[in-house]
Amino acid sequence: MSVVVRTLKPLCLAFTHMFRRVFTIKYPFQAPVIEDDYRGRIQFFPERCISCGICESVCPTAAIKLVEVKELEGFSEVKKFKKPQLDFGRCCFCNFCVDYCPSEALKSTWLVELAEYEKSKLTYTPYKLSKQPERPKLLPKPKLVKLEISKVRGAGHAPLKKERGKK
Ligand code: SF4
Ligand code: SF4
Repeated sequence: MSVVVRTLKPLCLAFTHMFRRVFTIKYPFQAPVIEDDYRGRIQFFPERCISCGICESVCPTAAIKLVEVKELEGFSEVKKFKKPQLDFGRCCFCNFCVDYCPSEALKSTWLVELAEYEKSKLTYTPYKLSKQPERPKLLPKPKLVKLEISKVRGAGHAPLKKERGKK
C-alpha cells in the first residue's frame, strides 16, 4: 500500500463518520437513557421483607448483611426484625439478591450514579436503601467563551521574531 493511500484511507473513514448517527451523549450535561430493568442501585421495600436472610446467603461478594433496624431509622411501622444493609462498595450488581428474594422486597433501579468521596457512604442502611432513587441534577451546559486577544496574557507585546531580531 502506497504512502498516499495509507494517509488518505483513515481520513476518508473519518469523513464518512461525520454523517453517521451519534451514539455518545454529552454527560453530565445531558441525561443518559437507562432502561427501567437496568441493574443499578438496589431499592429495598421494608414492608414486604420477611427477614429470611436469603439475600445475605446468596450474595457472592458478602455485600449484604442483615442488621437490627432501629425505630429512629424511620421503620416504626415495620416489625422490628433484621433487615438488609447493602455495601455498594462490594456489590457486583449480579442481581442474585433481587432474583432470590421470596417476597420481592428488593428491586434493581436505573440509578447508576453511586460514586462517593468516602467509602463508608457506600454502605446503605436498610432505611437509606428503602429510599426512592432520585435522578441526579444535570450540570448546565457550558457557555462558549469568546476569546479576546487583548485580554490574553502577554498579548500586545511585539511578535517574538521581532524581539529576537533586536537582540
Ligand atoms: S430482602 Fe428478601 S431475601 Fe432479604 S431478608 Fe428480606 S425477604 Fe428475605
Ligand atoms: S446484586 Fe449481587 S453482589 Fe450486589 S448485593 Fe445483590 S447479590 Fe450481592
